[in-house]
Amino acid sequence: MLCVFMAAPTASAQGNTIVLKNGRRIVALTVTQDGDKVRYETSAGELTLPRAIVDHIESGGMPTQGGSMDGGKLSLKPPEAAAADSALTGKTEIEAAVIRDGEVDRNYVARLENEALSGQSLANWNAALGHHAASQFELAHGEMDLALADEQQALKYAPQQPVFLMNAAYLHLRRSEYTQSLEYLERARRVAPEDPDVAKLTGWAYYGLNKMDQAAGEWQHALALRPDKETQAALKKALRDKEEEAQYKENESRHFTLRYSGAAEPAMARDVLRTLERHFDAIESQLSYSPPDAIGVILYTQQAFADITQAPAWVGALNDGRIRVPVQGLSSVTPELSRVLRHELTHSFIQQKTRGRAPTWIQEGLAQWMEGKRSNTSAAALIRMAASAPEQAAEHFEGDWMKMSNEVVSVAYAWALANVECILRAGGMTDLDRIMNRLAAGEAAEAATKGVTRSNYAELTSDTVDYLRKTYDK
Ligand SMILES: [Zn+2]
Repeated sequence: MLCVFMAAPTASAQGNTIVLKNGRRIVALTVTQDGDKVRYETSAGELTLPRAIVDHIESGGMPTQGGSMDGGKLSLKPPEAAAADSALTGKTEIEAAVIRDGEVDRNYVARLENEALSGQSLANWNAALGHHAASQFELAHGEMDLALADEQQALKYAPQQPVFLMNAAYLHLRRSEYTQSLEYLERARRVAPEDPDVAKLTGWAYYGLNKMDQAAGEWQHALALRPDKETQAALKKALRDKEEEAQYKENESRHFTLRYSGAAEPAMARDVLRTLERHFDAIESQLSYSPPDAIGVILYTQQAFADITQAPAWVGALNDGRIRVPVQGLSSVTPELSRVLRHELTHSFIQQKTRGRAPTWIQEGLAQWMEGKRSNTSAAALIRMAASAPEQAAEHFEGDWMKMSNEVVSVAYAWALANVECILRAGGMTDLDRIMNRLAAGEAAEAATKGVTRSNYAELTSDTVDYLRKTYDK
């Protein structure tokens, strides 16, 4: 999309680091204390913080991390300890009784709770195990809300059980609720300080909160306790990000933390944040969803973007939880960049709203629609393709778009947009909202689509062709 190469970012000036009580570090050129405020000067102008949230100020230091997680290609799995923990004696017995005929036997769980009223420690423990087993079952079936509610109940009976604490933390992570996740992890660490899964999950929570230093530290600790390929990959990614962005400046607004190359203009960074906040408000009301934590945005030079993401050449911008946008020494937000930001921000909303379960065609179809694209220029070609090569009209529903050639992927984008337009025309945003809610609950993509639109993929394709004919083929 934007493709002019630019010099590597220059090292930023030595300054002061404001360390907040929540661990966040802000690097400033100068820092002055002024009553109950701390004023600091950055390349983007003078900013203030309430004194109450500042822990201390260090002189010197380089900027630290910004960003937001999901891990994109890095999968996040529940802690392994949950599957086999020798402390959970009697687990199989309770588990077998809790799950009956393919669902949670809520009467049995209620009976365990009643028995726990006796105050006997075994009855208490059984009630905890019952809820934990129910939570594991709900998690395996994609019922994240129920899974979390059950794990919280289990913790009422056994507040110190590290496995329950880690599962609650994991469920919050899946919901992009990093701060809440950390609260459980801190409790888990107090009772199981050397458990590698506590460190691994804590790394993810920090990664989500844009604290790359702390994320890397946790993952290094986890690896020292137990070798693990997934953690190794996560650490490699965090260190790659950290190295590149160590040279970057930082700025933030209500819903975003922004990092950008030292070579970019501070006015540009402010302009990007203003543009993002405007898009945030619009997307928030359209998609009826508010991401719980700040969204990380990184502005890269083109070369740095290609090096860091190792994405195919056709990827104009990329969203792996943090919004990564290549810029080319622009000094203000152009209409083109504004569209890219809106597109990428839509991905963040969809990713979080569906708990990472949206298929690529919904992600890309809706992101294009939100940036203002319509099928007017592609309609005729899509109608012809559906008649002459119907299998190509369905390729975009499945498969890995990152592995597609430039040509195939541009067709995939066009179909995805047309499918989303067709769904929006028939049922409005309400229908897409319902599809996304079903995805969030763990339903498979085609089933979720059919459950709302009554069309499977083949039917959606023919609905889409009808829609394109009626709308554009005049
Ligand atoms: Zn996209």
